[in-house]
Amino acid sequence: KRLILIGPPGSGKGTQSPIIKDEYCLCHLATGDMLRAAVAAKTPLGIKAKEAMDKGELVSDDLVVGIIDEALKKPSCQKGFILDGFPRTVVQAEKLDVMLQSRGTKVDKVLNFAIDDAILEERITGRWIHPASGRSYHTKFAPPKAPGIDDVTGEPLIQRKDDTAAVLKSRLEAFHRQTEPVIDYYAKKGNVVNLPAEKPPQAVTAEVKKVLS
Ligand code: ADP
Ligand code: ADP
Ligand code: ADP
Repeated sequence: KRLILIGPPGSGKGTQSPIIKDEYCLCHLATGDMLRAAVAAKTPLGIKAKEAMDKGELVSDDLVVGIIDEALKKPSCQKGFILDGFPRTVVQAEKLDVMLQSRGTKVDKVLNFAIDDAILEERITGRWIHPASGRSYHTKFAPPKAPGIDDVTGEPLIQRKDDTAAVLKSRLEAFHRQTEPVIDYYAKKGNVVNLPAEKPPQAVTAEVKKVLS
């Protein structure tokens, strides 16, 4: 399966991805995770991306298209993939189409995590993540067994620097202005499925499995 996950920050893309990935043996490519790793390692890519990310703006199309083009070559992505957080602009979607055409494949389904903006601030400000694995927790909705500690590795959890109410505002503006048109782009091709992303995680998972079965 070749899947795209689209939804605003905090809509649950990162929470559902590992479950879908394991169920269908897909690779999980999250541009946000890849960019944060590059920022932390201070690579040339990270240095270019950091300013936009800190402000809650999108990084340039060329940078993220380059990352995805490279990542799709991995052996683990040949059976199928989940793109989480990409494409986020119509230009990225068009470039992805060209990339996949040249590989003789195409996108199967676009999962649209539909949710009201009002719910997202509480989700985002309560989010804690384990950077090495990308696992996310929530102080209220999905607390770790010990506060601030990853259940699996025992390593510390962190809060993302951009997970504040103020930066969320810019991220939501970017979503509505630049990413919602991507949903229309795929809707015209007829492969968008809307998910009830405001429901509890298990209910969203059940819906995803129904859609993909
Ligand atoms: P979210 O939790 O908001 O969905 P991500 O982890 O996907 O956030 O992205 C974090 C930041 O990384 C974004 O605010 C943006 O600056 C940058 N980013 C991630 N993916 C893309 C993309 N496809 N195009 C442009 N910028 C991106
Ligand atoms: P995204 O990757 O779309 O930015 P996440 O999956 O990281 O979103 O979810 C954001 C926060 O909300 C996390 O702290 C996560 O534990 C929590 N969360 C995810 N899905 C749900 C849900 N269905 N109901 C309540 N909280 C959720
Ligand atoms: P600084 O801005 O202090 O130089 P970094 O460049 O190390 O911080 O990282 C930027 C932000 O991204 C930090 O808030 C950090 O918590 C977060 N971060 C770093 N690496 C990751 C990762 N792999 N996954 C998620 N978040 C990360």
